[in-house]
Amino acid sequence: MKYISILGSTGSIGTQTLEVCENINNSIYGLAANSNIELLEKQARKYKPSVVCIYDKNKYKLLKDNLFDTSISVLSGMEGLIEISKSNHYDILVNAVVGMIGIEPTLEAIKSKKNIAIANKESLVTAGDIINKYAKKNNTKIFPIDSEHSAILQCLRGNKLRQINKIILTASGGPFRGYTYDMLKNVTLDQTLKHPNWVMGKKISVDSATLMNKGLEFIEAIRLFNLDSSQIEIIVHPQSIIHSMIEYNDKSIIAQLGIPDMKIPIQYALTYPDRFERDDISLNFDNLLNLTFEKPDIETFICLKACIKAIEKGGLFPTIVNGANEQAVDLYLQNKISFLDIGKLVYKSLDINIDITKVNLKNILYADKISREFILSNI
Ligand code: NDP
Ligand code: MG
Repeated sequence: MKYISILGSTGSIGTQTLEVCENINNSIYGLAANSNIELLEKQARKYKPSVVCIYDKNKYKLLKDNLFDTSISVLSGMEGLIEISKSNHYDILVNAVVGMIGIEPTLEAIKSKKNIAIANKESLVTAGDIINKYAKKNNTKIFPIDSEHSAILQCLRGNKLRQINKIILTASGGPFRGYTYDMLKNVTLDQTLKHPNWVMGKKISVDSATLMNKGLEFIEAIRLFNLDSSQIEIIVHPQSIIHSMIEYNDKSIIAQLGIPDMKIPIQYALTYPDRFERDDISLNFDNLLNLTFEKPDIETFICLKACIKAIEKGGLFPTIVNGANEQAVDLYLQNKISFLDIGKLVYKSLDINIDITKVNLKNILYADKISREFILSNI
């Protein structure tokens, strides 16, 4: 039996990971959330982890008091996340927090030889090279949970990375696929959060609507599979049935298909290279009238263009656009800026004058900070 720790257990990926753990009979060692102590307490009572962590220190005492009748240790803050990650009492860390705050716990888990199942794309976008270096040094593995990257991992089985011609990364296009710039002037937050195929946390839902999500995934694919940006083609496939494809050097294309259900890639990340029975519905080809494909409109959805440019500029620019986006989405969710402002601000962050080229943890944290400050001073 494997022991799992989940950072972000109260979120969309975190709660689905707990369901998957029940399906495959994994036990839970540690659970962590940002501030939702009600759900974290419920999860603690149900799954009986050894330790829980609430990042928000103001909620720590209440959670500890509420769990007084259990033997569960209660931690808080970044120190708590790191303590769970470093522990020797579990096997796989599921990083399902939102935002680049997930970098340090990931690195600590790798240092103590844990395999990582990673949904937290922001930490791969900003610190993917460092994560890879640590993983190589400590002989640990990084398993993607993101459906596109899980698809790529599956299409790679039995093949060689060096024989890849290109990856065809599919995108649903989000709720505003086909919208013109003028149409985007009047969209509401409710419309933005209503993704046609997936139910997800708020931040990734906004990212899916701006196509920033695909930009982050483009960088995530480069980091995870050590590819050149020219080897990644992004195609809009509104039905979200083909989760991504690989074209090999003989022009053969292998695709991974399935119903849009994150429990499938979550489970694969936890059972790799094995597969376990799931009793979900099967993909029904009788109902699949059309699988369609179109080019993404990167002039209207400029967040995607900003991510492509960030990779061209290299160095800390992936961190810069990610930080700008995290800050802009935060402002958008508070109704302080419009939908179109997100793209404008993220694109503008490419003009930040940063002369540091060395990508290490200290500089990543610094670049993130100046990029957030840049957004706040440009609204
Ligand atoms: P949610 O907003 O639903 O959940 C985020 C989780 O992270 C919550 O449990 C939240 O706790 C927790 N959290 C946030 N900050 C901290 C912190 N500092 N310390 C500890 N816990 C923290 O997001 P999603 O589950 O949708 O997304 C999580 C990650 O997975 C993102 O990087 C996203 O891009 C990626 N992803 C998500 C997919 C999806 O279908 N949802 C698909 C592919 C990738 P609290 O509840 O207390 O706020
Ligand atoms: Mg995805």
